[in-house]
Amino acid sequence: MLPTPKFSNLDFDKVYEPAEDTFLLLDCFEGQIQYLNTQFGPGSTPVITEIGTGSGVVTTFVCQHVFPYGIVLSTDINPHACLAFMDTVTENSIVNPTVDTLQMSLTSGIRPNAIDVLIFNPPYVPAEEVPQIPESLQDSKWLDLALSGGEDGMEVTWILLHQLDHILSKKVGIAYILFCARNKPEEVANYMRQQGWIVDVVIHRKAGWEVLSILRFKRN
Ligand code: SAM
Repeated sequence: MLPTPKFSNLDFDKVYEPAEDTFLLLDCFEGQIQYLNTQFGPGSTPVITEIGTGSGVVTTFVCQHVFPYGIVLSTDINPHACLAFMDTVTENSIVNPTVDTLQMSLTSGIRPNAIDVLIFNPPYVPAEEVPQIPESLQDSKWLDLALSGGEDGMEVTWILLHQLDHILSKKVGIAYILFCARNKPEEVANYMRQQGWIVDVVIHRKAGWEVLSILRFKRN
């Protein structure tokens, strides 16, 4: 089992603390190394974007073990997460100079069809609504954006899924997205298959009272 990246000195009142969902993503990528090597070839430099990096642990793991030479443009809407990301990258001695994070919603500031590998552990908890974006850095509510996903916990994820064709590279283009059972991932998978995507469940696990799964979406 590959080691979890180090993450110390982060303020978990402002940034999502790595939890079962985070660790499921690490296990997912450990299991996907061979598959991704066959898709991109060893030593290649795909563009990788994790949306909603939080602590930065997932992107750091991917840099360490999957794509040491990738071009990494990760994003988070929470500015505190962007800062935490760079702390984690530095703490783990990632020397790839192209690893950075950008504060934005989803991939809104990245050129269309630029991303080869997309990763998203979204705010997936069903809630009355998706929280408003705080107006100032000092606001205490940035962390609320990490969990509350509106109706079925799917409001943010559906926005992304509807943009997937526009976001992913036309060459290969693979997205890994995490779901809980209340997001109805089987219905989502069937809908996306009807839109022409190849969808596979790459890993799933019971985590407390929640069942989490990660679906892989690939162009047909
Ligand atoms: N990736 C981290 C992990 O696995 O530990 C954090 C996951 S947390 C469940 C969701 C993250 O998505 C939070 O860091 C939150 O700030 C971010 N987020 C929520 N809405 C977003 C949006 N529209 N665009 C970018 N990031 C968003």
